[in-house]
Amino acid sequence: MELKNASEMLLKYFGYSEFRENQIAVVENILKKKDTLAIMPTGAGKSVCYQVPALIFGGLTLVISPLISLMKDQVDILESNGIPAVLINSSLKVSEYRRSKESIRSGKAKIVYVAPERLESEEFIELINECEVSLVAVDEAHCVSQWGHDFRPSYTRIQGFISKLKNRPLVTAFTATATEEVEEDIKAHLGFNQVNTFRSSVNRKNLKLYVLKQEAKKFLLEYLQKNRDSSGIVYFITRKEVDTYYEFLSSNGISVGRYHAGMSDQERIMSQDSFQKDDVKVILGTNAFGMGIDKSNIRFVIHANIPKDLESYYQEIGRAGRDGENSECYLLFQSKDVMMHKYMISEDRATLEHKKIKYDKLNIMINYAHTQKCLSSAIMKYFGETPEIECCESCINCLADYKVIDYTIQAQKVISCIGKVKTKYGIKMIADILKGSKQKKILQFQLDTQSTYGIMSDYSVDKISEIINFLISDEYIDVESGKFPTLSLSRRALEFIKNRECYTIKSKEAKKNSTVDEFFEDIFNQLRKLRYDLATRHNLAPYMVFSDATLRLMIQNRPKNEEEFLNISGVGKKKLEMYGKQFLSLLNSSRVLAEKV
Ligand code: ADP
Repeated sequence: MELKNASEMLLKYFGYSEFRENQIAVVENILKKKDTLAIMPTGAGKSVCYQVPALIFGGLTLVISPLISLMKDQVDILESNGIPAVLINSSLKVSEYRRSKESIRSGKAKIVYVAPERLESEEFIELINECEVSLVAVDEAHCVSQWGHDFRPSYTRIQGFISKLKNRPLVTAFTATATEEVEEDIKAHLGFNQVNTFRSSVNRKNLKLYVLKQEAKKFLLEYLQKNRDSSGIVYFITRKEVDTYYEFLSSNGISVGRYHAGMSDQERIMSQDSFQKDDVKVILGTNAFGMGIDKSNIRFVIHANIPKDLESYYQEIGRAGRDGENSECYLLFQSKDVMMHKYMISEDRATLEHKKIKYDKLNIMINYAHTQKCLSSAIMKYFGETPEIECCESCINCLADYKVIDYTIQAQKVISCIGKVKTKYGIKMIADILKGSKQKKILQFQLDTQSTYGIMSDYSVDKISEIINFLISDEYIDVESGKFPTLSLSRRALEFIKNRECYTIKSKEAKKNSTVDEFFEDIFNQLRKLRYDLATRHNLAPYMVFSDATLRLMIQNRPKNEEEFLNISGVGKKKLEMYGKQFLSLLNSSRVLAEKV
């Protein structure tokens, strides 16, 4: 079967004129009826890779998905695009379950979403065996592996289920992240025939990465006030901080929701729901928030505290910009948060070996927050990729508008201090010596007699620690890992002193927002309002009506009639029928036209 046919389906049902580059190979492979594993980052568009073949194949497509809340969203999206789909999981009422069954039996449903636990039910197997299954798509396939970050035992029974089907269907698997070990596990557990693996880069070009050494209160107040109409998530380490900021921001007139494990199930469901539906634009949450979130128009993710490791960070920022539109990711660094993580690891019931891994991962995260090099490249390297170019032009380190500050003398002082002390110490102790602090330990170990004692007394201990962290990221200082990591000099530091080199760092002032096109924003807001009203009327989340990307294209292309409207990427036949009139009338309204001239 050719790709041409698939492209026609993509246009007709989803309104997209072409597959993205990394989708093509995956879809082609599936159409050739080869078992396929696709590892593609969030937002790459994994769903259509199996939904479009599902429309082409004669039989049923079963999608195995671990997240009940996501299933409902997926089915709503498919139905709103005119594709008959149903779900089967424990959340269904008896009457809904009966309706799903009838739809499967009668051959009306093309796509069935099912929770993995259901695959063990004899009743379900009998039901499915009344039909012909063409394709099984395993979503979040990393759940099959114990090495993955979200192991689900029921996933290991998928192969047993497949073997009970009348005919073996084509099996495909999708995930956003998989190390090589996880990849091998997926293939083995799913019993792939001829496996073909497609791995896309982890790099997400539309995510703009920033690290700021800034206190959260002031930043959040300003940022959230300025970005009132955008949807976003703010992550905190503790529930207490979520609650404190919830009160603080609400009392400053900013509408926010919250989400953490200390709230009741019902409160959490309500928070998530109002966020999905754009009733609340911003959610403050702990890392418990986000698993069941498929919202495509999240424009920013802010980490008010540094997260525990780069994997979590990548996963959490990954929730921004699924629609491919530019989105901002801010990481606010403060050394007190590092202490908090260390405390949490020390209190953890994990084995010593496991704790060491956690400390090491935290150190990598701290290095990320201090590196002067390209942040996108740093993430790619961490996940085992070799970036083609080491300048992404969209992270704070690659942007041009910097002040370069000469830190040569400061670096010499730090390096000399570490070189001269007999015992190996951690960052805080070295900073205390340089500051000339009268801390008990300094006096007890007679470090106040060191020649470098107090030679940076003009600086705060925090500032000195920051400079030390820069030198660690730039590999002048090595860190021996553990609960109390100790510092030593690298070869590079010795060469720096010997060759009298210079050391500079770039000042990390937040880049000023480019002048916002007010006219554009005005229409965008009107379109968002219409989208919200229509979504409420049809009981959908607004992003299911049209994505932000599609709204922006409407403003750029200004369709005047139905034909032009259908040409907009993201508008399929069904959506033209459902919403075309209202959007066209808004776009053609006298006000918009007057502004256009
Ligand atoms: P993933 O599951 O990989 O995170 P999704 O399947 O949710 O990604 O897709 C992300 C967004 O990209 C969705 O809004 C989807 O409709 C859109 N999308 C998918 N394929 C295309 C395409 N070929 N052209 C334009 N947009 C697309």
